[in-house]
Amino acid sequence: MATEYPSIPAGTPEPGLYIVATPIGNLGDMTLRAIGVLSGCALVACEDTRVTGKLLKHFGIKARLQRLDDHAAPEVRARIINEARVSPVALVSDAGTPLISDPGYRLVREARDAGVTVTSIPGACAAVSALAIAGLPSDRFLFAGFLPVKDKARRDALEGLAQIAATLVFYDTAPRLERSLLTIAELWPDREVAVARELTKLHEECRSGTAASLAAHYAAHPPKGEIVLLIGPPTAAEAPVLDADAMLRAALVEAGPGKAAGMVAKATGLDRAVLYARALELKGA
Ligand code: SAM
Repeated sequence: MATEYPSIPAGTPEPGLYIVATPIGNLGDMTLRAIGVLSGCALVACEDTRVTGKLLKHFGIKARLQRLDDHAAPEVRARIINEARVSPVALVSDAGTPLISDPGYRLVREARDAGVTVTSIPGACAAVSALAIAGLPSDRFLFAGFLPVKDKARRDALEGLAQIAATLVFYDTAPRLERSLLTIAELWPDREVAVARELTKLHEECRSGTAASLAAHYAAHPPKGEIVLLIGPPTAAEAPVLDADAMLRAALVEAGPGKAAGMVAKATGLDRAVLYARALELKGA
């Protein structure tokens, strides 16, 4: 029963739509706020009523469940939003944070347009959990969901991100992991890559190395379970390809160091502060 958790906020939440994160494997990651809010909601919209039914039962929460996925008819969203005008309604996904490679975007957008208050009840998210333990730069990261399944589309998608000066974070699946790693190995043999698997669960692991070394490992030990794939930012070895100095020199003909750095940062994805420092050097040289 919810009353077993002493610091759960008491009382019924205000009317509105609550976007509630749920665990990504370890039920201990259910937050007290999530339990409190879900306990106070008459209606919980979810991807799969069986999955959410089990979770709510575990925490002694009773609520009406309404299936809502990306293919839901507009009327289903409209009904949920109408109910959220007068009472608290929650959206959860099968695991983790709704909307993060999960349904909910349209519902949130339409609820906001309708003037319904949308409140985030944060919690587990596999992408963020993986970034927190991978040992890759975390000051800038780009989350890009699942990579395309087909080889060419996957390669094109990765190539499109080649110049992003940030750690790239993807969701992947066990059967596809080796092929993803082989594609990365072809494109960026020197980049540091990490595979975070089964986060928060019994067999959690986070393994890092080059894509080729990880592909060899997983060819020998086929992975199981759920996977986040992370790729470090462009290495120094890739930098000459961009020839940032030449671009800065060209930009400095017409613009001051600040604007030139901004233009080159936009074109290359390289760090603006680093480019600005370099632009000052080039200007003074
Ligand atoms: N909304 C979820 C979140 O906040 O992380 C993600 C949902 S997405 C449909 C499911 C994917 O997330 C999985 O295929 C896997 O790539 C990743 N994922 C979910 N749970 C995970 C876990 N415990 N360990 C590693 N990856 C996980």
